[in-house]
Amino acid sequence: MVTINKERFLSTLSCPTAGWLLAHTPPVKLSRYDHFLMEQELEVHKKAQALYPQGILVGGNDISAEKHTEHLIRNPNTQVLFEAVFMVYEGITRADIIKRQRVGWWLYKIKSSVNNKDEYLDDLAYTAMIALQAGLKIIGCSLLLLSPNYRLGLPVKDLFQEISLTLETFQKAKEFWLEYDRVLHILQRTTKPHPELRWECQNCLYFPACMGQGIENSIFDLPQLNHTKFCHFREQDIQTIDQIPEDFILTHTQQRIREAIKEGRPYLDRNGLTKALEQISFPLYFLDFETVSTAIPLYPDITPRARVPFQYSLHVVGGEGEILTHHEYLADPRRDCRKELVEHLIRHCDTQGTILCFNDYEKQVIQECSEIYPERSTLLEALLERLINLSTIMKQHYYHPGFHGSYSIKDVLAVLVPSMSYEDMEVSNGRDAMSVFADMATGKLDKIQEREYRNHLLKYCKLDTLAMVKIWEQLVGMVRETDLQFQSK
Ligand code: SF4
Repeated sequence: MVTINKERFLSTLSCPTAGWLLAHTPPVKLSRYDHFLMEQELEVHKKAQALYPQGILVGGNDISAEKHTEHLIRNPNTQVLFEAVFMVYEGITRADIIKRQRVGWWLYKIKSSVNNKDEYLDDLAYTAMIALQAGLKIIGCSLLLLSPNYRLGLPVKDLFQEISLTLETFQKAKEFWLEYDRVLHILQRTTKPHPELRWECQNCLYFPACMGQGIENSIFDLPQLNHTKFCHFREQDIQTIDQIPEDFILTHTQQRIREAIKEGRPYLDRNGLTKALEQISFPLYFLDFETVSTAIPLYPDITPRARVPFQYSLHVVGGEGEILTHHEYLADPRRDCRKELVEHLIRHCDTQGTILCFNDYEKQVIQECSEIYPERSTLLEALLERLINLSTIMKQHYYHPGFHGSYSIKDVLAVLVPSMSYEDMEVSNGRDAMSVFADMATGKLDKIQEREYRNHLLKYCKLDTLAMVKIWEQLVGMVRETDLQFQSK
């Protein structure tokens, strides 16, 4: 018998096929970053539980946990329960915190985020729906979010901000209950509901094996695809970019992508690319940062979830095929090294030459450092004036059908420099890097592991900037090749 839990219920509401697949197929393997997020959630839950020393942890997710909850609730001396379990008609939920009031219970959902999100209300409403139907008298519902005012060393109560959502939760729980039988029926089917193209497909983990199966150049590969345009496509049964009619109005970037796919060759705006590359002055600095963001700040004077830069790689290039030097910085995870990082960066970037990055992230990090260290703002502002985003240049002047709508450094590299790859690297993306650094900062790695992972971090970040160097060389090569073609005509 398939049971309903929050993930299955909410997923079925947004797409019956996705909900069914979630309930009937093995769970996907969790990444290092997924584990990192789960640990962060757990840490925040423990902090929230510390707000109620009289609280009792129920735990578990079976019938005995439900019975234990029932027993505790009946006892008038029980004031607060953590992870109380409620069940009704094949549905189960665990309430993060319930707190006894004079005439009922207050339900709390803990989220390790500073900002409220729509999905949190759904989460709260699902729990409220099951608990209400199981007979719990709920008189109020709140989210416990992280407070942006918290700093390391302050009392635990200052870590949280409470957002009361009682009316909204009751309303949503009512709407959910009207859908409950339908969801249960879908989940208990023995066959998968027939999938249909929908807006949710674009971020669905089942897409490659579901609506995306056998499809090249899906409409979801179009950057900045909005819902209105998507609905037009769906009405006309358009699933791939090459099916989009010529007279259908697209943005410039989308048009270029359609053109490249229909013609089966890359789009190149030679004049535009030449001009853009001419803006660049030597020596060239290829810069990439890694940052860490944690629920509980790692260091004093940092807000929860603040972005903390801890590493950079910088390749300095004198011309094509001429790497002059490579600089790198990796912080000591046991202390806040942002100031030190800034000092090294200013020195390593010198005062002349374009600094190239591959997204807006580097700009944002330097801007944030400039605000934090006003005494260095003049020098950091000077770096910002030299900063150019290479991926923006590409987006404006070049597209290869092999990018499949993505200008991420990995997707671009795979097409333009297939001999280089991030495969088999222990740390192979920014999320891994963040997780590893947070593990170091919180003492989860021993000395030998830490030394090994520092090398992995350095190797990964260095590859990012070397990849940029190679991509830039490819772009320069494209301009030169077309120049030669023109001359030979
Ligand atoms: S790809 Fe689309 S139809 Fe298939 S499961 Fe995902 S959201 Fe549903």
